[in-house]
Amino acid sequence: MMFYDNSIQSRISAAEFLIAQGTQKKVIEKYCNGIGSLYKSLRAQMPPVKERHREGTHWLRGESCVSATRAVRLIKSLFGTTHIDHALIASEFVSLCECYAMKFPNDDSISPNRIHYLIQSIRSGKVLVHDSCKCCKKPYVTHRDDAHTSKCTNCTVSSDETGLLQ
Ligand SMILES: [Zn+2]
Repeated sequence: MMFYDNSIQSRISAAEFLIAQGTQKKVIEKYCNGIGSLYKSLRAQMPPVKERHREGTHWLRGESCVSATRAVRLIKSLFGTTHIDHALIASEFVSLCECYAMKFPNDDSISPNRIHYLIQSIRSGKVLVHDSCKCCKKPYVTHRDDAHTSKCTNCTVSSDETGLLQ
């Protein structure tokens, strides 16, 4: 298991990373507790960025669900569980976002905002994590309204012939 630092320095660099990614202030404050008064000055030192993606689960009802499944599989490989039952600290959350960007550099469907709200939605039951796809046998994600689906979006998206989506 990796060691995750939760010092104030680590929370400040996490905040800088998240600001640069267009993360909502309220999301940053959840992970980077204690940086409150610094937020404004950090933000002022950085080039302006647009906020990316908002709260909501509608994006999980289409092909973008592939990205949610990727995120959940990554959560499992980093933290050993697909059901995140403890709140991630800033450095854990940033590692998760960075690993995702490294593995899937061209995926525009995801952002720290979406990863955050995805975890929240799994906790609240709006989004379900299934243990094993009928086709690839890996865990996958669906919106609650698509709970009957037995295959992951990654296996049903026909354009994927490279296996890279897995
Ligand atoms: Zn599958």
